[in-house]
Amino acid sequence: MSLDGHYDPSNIFGKILRGEMPSAKVFENDDVYAFMDVFPQTRGHTLVIPKRSQARNFLEESPLQLGALMQGVQIVAKAVRSALNPDGLVITQFNGTAAGQTVFHLHFHVIPRWEGQAVGRHASGGMADPSELRALAAEIAAKIEA
Ligand code: AMP
Repeated sequence: MSLDGHYDPSNIFGKILRGEMPSAKVFENDDVYAFMDVFPQTRGHTLVIPKRSQARNFLEESPLQLGALMQGVQIVAKAVRSALNPDGLVITQFNGTAAGQTVFHLHFHVIPRWEGQAVGRHASGGMADPSELRALAAEIAAKIEA
């Protein structure tokens, strides 16, 4: 999909927000929802999405919503750090198929990194065990300071 187009509410994250698809929830407030990536690039790979937005990508998001969204990303990133003690954290976001985007509901990736440990391929590694993801989500959720 190109950078231009219409928001399709049947995208996977739209379904997660409506409770039509399961997710390992980490955090939620009025503006954002955070959950574990099912194809994690590292242990603890978490996604943060706006709840009330129909932005497919960063360029389409209302500037007024960005503050709350980025605050949510920081809250989650701090909790990931606190729960998993990584050496570093990648926070990333893709816009358009050519850039690597595969789900067209705006989202940020929070990917903890450890020295000497490889990172998996984007959106194409193995699927994580759902019960392991739920346990990780609970560990991270316990460290949320909002
Ligand atoms: P992007 O490629 O930047 O659009 O990121 C989409 C991300 O969503 C990828 O990292 C996928 O692994 C992840 N993903 C796809 N389906 C699901 C799902 N049902 N639950 C959680 N994460 C998902």
